[in-house]
Amino acid sequence: MTGLPNRLLLSERFHQVLAEFNQAHSPIPVLYLDISQFRRVNSTLGYELGDHLLKTMAERLQAFVGFRNLVVRLGDDEFAIIIGTMGAELSEVEDIQPAIARVAQNLLWAISQPFTVQDRTVFLTGCLGIAIYPKDGSDIDTLIRHADIAMHEAKSQGNSQFKLYQPITEITSDQLALEADLRYALKRSEFQVYYQPQINLKTKAITGAEALLRWRHPQRGMISPAEFIPLAESTGLIVPIGAWVLQTACQQAKLWQSEGFDNLQIAVNLSAHQFGQPKLCEAITRTLQRTGLNPALLDLELTESALVQDVDSAISTLKQLRSLSIRVSVDDFGTGYSSLSYLQRFPFNTLKIDRTFVKSISQDAKSGAITTAIIQMAHQLQLQVIAEGVETQAELDFLSQHGCDLAQGYLFSPPVSAEAFTELLYRRAWSSLK
Ligand code: C2E
Ligand code: CA
Ligand code: CA
Repeated sequence: MTGLPNRLLLSERFHQVLAEFNQAHSPIPVLYLDISQFRRVNSTLGYELGDHLLKTMAERLQAFVGFRNLVVRLGDDEFAIIIGTMGAELSEVEDIQPAIARVAQNLLWAISQPFTVQDRTVFLTGCLGIAIYPKDGSDIDTLIRHADIAMHEAKSQGNSQFKLYQPITEITSDQLALEADLRYALKRSEFQVYYQPQINLKTKAITGAEALLRWRHPQRGMISPAEFIPLAESTGLIVPIGAWVLQTACQQAKLWQSEGFDNLQIAVNLSAHQFGQPKLCEAITRTLQRTGLNPALLDLELTESALVQDVDSAISTLKQLRSLSIRVSVDDFGTGYSSLSYLQRFPFNTLKIDRTFVKSISQDAKSGAITTAIIQMAHQLQLQVIAEGVETQAELDFLSQHGCDLAQGYLFSPPVSAEAFTELLYRRAWSSLK
């Protein structure tokens, strides 16, 4: 259907590649590509459209690597790409790894560009694992197996990632152990939710809190969510863990409300896998009912990549959430797709400017200009703007001067326990700040 050779032809074609390109014994990268969310596209948009999409994908891949290189369809949504020309183009002393990293990055970018199939726009992402002939294997089966292992490693780190194969090391067995521990962490009550204040820049009052998950591992101590959330995502454990965070945060917000902090917003992060759950709205509604929290006080933080995987179903989920009066924020804005057209299509309330921009605004004129433009554009779209990762007074001054509505960051407070946050609330405002 895709017009590409399949797995059965792989070995034969690989020998042809070796014969053509390996005379100078140059290395040959074998890439294992897995398209994320393809099955979901298939089941929501139908198989006919799915087939069409695959065909377009196959063409895009072949065009990207050029016709002298080999693209093979391995399975439903998996491809092998063998770039024979690459080693041949390198000088003898040049290391192949940086060149591969460049190609991998560009390839992932090419995949993430929108596909238009029968008047619909579909966004896909992929993950890549890479093995290099002959270092990582002398036959194609071994190379594919190793590239597959690397691909899974890449996938556990999120969307659009790539990894070069590394022979089994301490690290991978470490990862397995961590995964096993993660399965029990909920039962053993090793999780805790921390809260970071969100400050209104005009009144200097705390208007909200972002709930951030913490894991106290009995042997390893505190483990950063940046380390275990991707693992929880790839194993599906994020669903029960996320439900627990939501329940805990809503309960806590209700408690603060009953202490008189009436309008305190509670922001909860939802990762891509959570957002894609079939009964998301029902689960959230039940949690709100159980805890008695006003839905208008709940703010869900979503990253762009969680939304673009299936634009139409994302829009309908967001609309459903909004009809329940729940608020929605775009997290990490500026780091992902940052497509201006979808800002208009998705019914967001708030845009969170990523801390990579905030970090450089006071030193770098370009970041300052981008931040200013984001604020203006958001306001024109009737969106509220919050800056995250604010660490210095200079950053705060810049943001205030340019009309940013809210801010969050170490300058005000790091994420703290519920008890410590309660104390912050009683202090009420950052009167010490300008
Ligand atoms: P995020 O949503 O972008 O959260 C902001 C991160 O920046 C937090 O890291 C926070 O501690 C950190 N941060 C806050 N202020 C500053 C600052 O001034 N400077 C610097 N350098 N960092 C600051 P944390 O808590 O390690 O969380 C990392 C990521 O893990 C979060 O990024 C979020 O994507 C994810 N995460 C955390 N909790 C949850 C959760 O309950 N569910 C899901 N799905 N993801 C979560
Ligand atoms: Ca967040
Ligand atoms: Ca963020």
